[in-house]
Amino acid sequence: MNKNDIVRLTIEDMSLEGAGIGHTDGVTIFVKDAVVGDVCDVIITKVKKTYCFAALKEVIEPSAHRVEPACDIARVCGGCQIMQIDYAKQLEIKENIVANNLVKIGGYDRDFVNEIHEPIIGMTDPFRYRNKAQVPVGTDKDGNIIAGFYGARSHRIVPSTDCKICSNKSMDIVYAVIDYMKENGIKPYDESTGKGLIRHVLIREGMATGETMVCVVVNGNKLPQVDSLISHVKEVEPELASLVLNINTRRDNVIMGFETHTLYGKDAIRDTITLTNGDTIAFDISANSFYQVNHDQMERLYSRALEYADLHGTENVWDLYCGIGTISLSMAKRAGMVFGVEVVPQAIVNAKANAKINSLENTRFFCGEAEAILPEFYSGKAAASKLINAEGYDAAADSQLLDQMTSPDVIMVDPPRKGCDTACLDTMAAMAPQRIVYVSCDSATLARDLKYLETKGYHLQKYTVVDQFGHTMHTETVALLTK
Ligand code: SAH
Repeated sequence: MNKNDIVRLTIEDMSLEGAGIGHTDGVTIFVKDAVVGDVCDVIITKVKKTYCFAALKEVIEPSAHRVEPACDIARVCGGCQIMQIDYAKQLEIKENIVANNLVKIGGYDRDFVNEIHEPIIGMTDPFRYRNKAQVPVGTDKDGNIIAGFYGARSHRIVPSTDCKICSNKSMDIVYAVIDYMKENGIKPYDESTGKGLIRHVLIREGMATGETMVCVVVNGNKLPQVDSLISHVKEVEPELASLVLNINTRRDNVIMGFETHTLYGKDAIRDTITLTNGDTIAFDISANSFYQVNHDQMERLYSRALEYADLHGTENVWDLYCGIGTISLSMAKRAGMVFGVEVVPQAIVNAKANAKINSLENTRFFCGEAEAILPEFYSGKAAASKLINAEGYDAAADSQLLDQMTSPDVIMVDPPRKGCDTACLDTMAAMAPQRIVYVSCDSATLARDLKYLETKGYHLQKYTVVDQFGHTMHTETVALLTK
């Protein structure tokens, strides 16, 4: 096989990155934009020892699952990978990814996985679901200001005026910011030179409350003509709740800087979620906070996690990797005490404030790495008291909590993609909760961690995949393990 060869292929499967997989002469070929079931001609773009990459040249016989992507730039934009596949098939692909990882990495029997899995929870409408748009601003080759999304594995901006998985309003707000830039001669940031002012525009919406926050990320420490910016944005969003400036003068790929100033309205927007058990919880979300991007699926995910936690009003619960306390507070309504751990200090500030908003006094939040904080609590009362006082709580008044903390009934974990550290898993098992509920955004590390927990006596009972990210290859899974 050589570069630029043209090959006719039948696509047999989909890769984890969303490419179609076909075989010819014993060589595996990954074809971007192909759909399982397609017969197509492809052009080889890169040749490796045992496999090749290819681009789709022509679909000869389209798969029964092939659809016209809802977005004109779906093939060049890095945001969505599988918009050319019908939604039902997307869900099936995601369920298979998780099941395969549980078998291949987790070491579970295929029949067992088939038996315990609960059907994937898909979206009612897989479009316009994101509550956050994160839009880079730049310049095209003619010097015009552009906004859009990065191409796959690149930092080249693919211009976009309408993203079908973001709200209608969000891109209109981005273009209102661009009008302000043009009117006031403000230059977009240029990654190659490190010059220019505006890097990104972020829009976050409280889907239940309708509150909107606009965050302008700048390579500098202020914006000129703020009044003009406010009036342009308010033309699109008259009810604007918050406009903030985020300072990022670093020359790396991280979108946000650490410093944020409010230019208009509130420092944080409010959103609420309502769970299937009828509980409603309110959150204040600031520009830097982690918040699930899909409001309705978040409700379904947390509802399922809560169902697995099986709380009856008395349980002691740890919520590890708790962010701004979304799952912790959902559980606090139904538990005895909830102890949250999160590494980002601002998120812990938000979690404590969110506990107050909901009058949930049966919560304690701790800032640090789960793999450090949990063993510290387990190491003894002196260390635990120190941690409690360091968070502004009163260890003397909380002394009766210390035993509850080291022998919880339930541990909930929701780690980032890399999963849990073994120090964390070891202490979780040593604390011997009856149930562990594992929420995961990467089923490969989930499977690895479940395999480890099985050796510690925790057995997988059931799991559900909840689709939070339609048209992308990302999956979210919630699993129940019992002792
Ligand atoms: N449960 C929350 C957040 C989940 S995202 C929600 O559903 O909204 C994962 C969180 O883990 C992030 O907030 C991240 O900051 C935090 N995190 C990452 N590494 C961590 C670690 N080692 N210890 C504790 N928290 C960590």
